[in-house]
Amino acid sequence: MKIYSIREKNYEGKKVFLRVDFNVPIKNGVITDDTRITSTIPTIDYLLSHRARLIIASHLGRPEGKVSPEFSLKPVAERLSEILKKEVKFAPDCIGDEVKKLVNSLKEGEILLLENLRFHSEEEKGDENFAKELASLCDAYVNDAFGTCHRKHSSVYTITKFVNDVAAGFLIEKEVSALSKLLINPERPFLLILGGAKVIDKINMLKNLLDKVDTIITGGVMAYTFIKAKNWEVGDSKVEEEAIPVAKEIIKEINKRHLEFHTPLDHIIAQKISEDATFIATERGTVPHGWIGVDIGPQAIEEYIDCINRAKTIFWNGPMGIYEIEKFAKGTIEIAKAIAKTNAFSVIGGGDSVAIVQKAGVADKISHICTGGGASLEFLEKGSLPGIDVLKKE
Ligand code: ADP
Ligand code: MG
Repeated sequence: MKIYSIREKNYEGKKVFLRVDFNVPIKNGVITDDTRITSTIPTIDYLLSHRARLIIASHLGRPEGKVSPEFSLKPVAERLSEILKKEVKFAPDCIGDEVKKLVNSLKEGEILLLENLRFHSEEEKGDENFAKELASLCDAYVNDAFGTCHRKHSSVYTITKFVNDVAAGFLIEKEVSALSKLLINPERPFLLILGGAKVIDKINMLKNLLDKVDTIITGGVMAYTFIKAKNWEVGDSKVEEEAIPVAKEIIKEINKRHLEFHTPLDHIIAQKISEDATFIATERGTVPHGWIGVDIGPQAIEEYIDCINRAKTIFWNGPMGIYEIEKFAKGTIEIAKAIAKTNAFSVIGGGDSVAIVQKAGVADKISHICTGGGASLEFLEKGSLPGIDVLKKE
């Protein structure tokens, strides 16, 4: 795949609109993991040292088209400034006259971070007029927001209709090259580990990955959705009901293809989701009435580690349990450690998944840490993404 690279462009004195994915986890106003910021630094440094006038834009969370202070990118501007040891100006919006003024006063090598793109509902609709407004700020467009490339949003997709000079940043280049390795003759067995909560977002992609992988292991809400699809008891565990019909189809396909597929052999269950909850391990792969599955159990950990040890290629998205609560993080941490110990080519994708790998202190033992969850799954499914297609050379 040939995409325009920033290396082959001249940015001197140009207003460059850089779309990044600064959708970092924020708890009580504090950024708890800044991987998504640090992973775009090579591109930012390159553009600054090539004397661009740099406009940076991102989304944060799901403010649903409304201005809401809790989703402001202000804390991100501060963190970025600390990392770069350089002033980062901050614009109160991402379009409009005031923003234009700020952009026009930018000098070479200076940075302006725009406020959350998703404060405008047009962004997620891929609206052309909004995209034109964004395009009118700049002379050149660079995309390094890999985590958003599966969306045809204005700042990722539509904007490229209105800017001639487009290119991919280093992060997108790196992601594309690592994920392509999973698609082009991966060493087998190829193990897919799927957990987390966004089942509806991810399950259709899983359907299309069945002819690429050999083994699938599941955790989190993904696992409970499959367990329920098998008509097994899940108690009060969180399930995405809408995904059950697809889950049923997938189980049929898996059986037809004789793939190895696992839901957890046992679970850690609790009666409430909180730090002070008491918890026990089940003996079986089901969850009794009145209880919530919060993590995979010890037998499941053992079985999953065995799958990991046999694999030559691994892709992991989504935690095995409610890892934000220390007591329920064990399954996820053990899986992360096991992957770190293998010699398999391993790729981990997804905001939460990456946060765990950092927390487990094993990030440097993973072949590639991918900054997009849904994006990486869709890339595996389709071999490209809408936001990457628009950066391709004819
Ligand atoms: P990623 O960001 O890596 O793509 P997701 O966003 O899909 O992953 O899922 C992460 C979320 O899944 C976490 O907030 C975690 O608490 C939640 N989760 C995992 N297991 C469960 C469970 N059994 N019940 C409810 N939520 C869960
Ligand atoms: Mg997440």
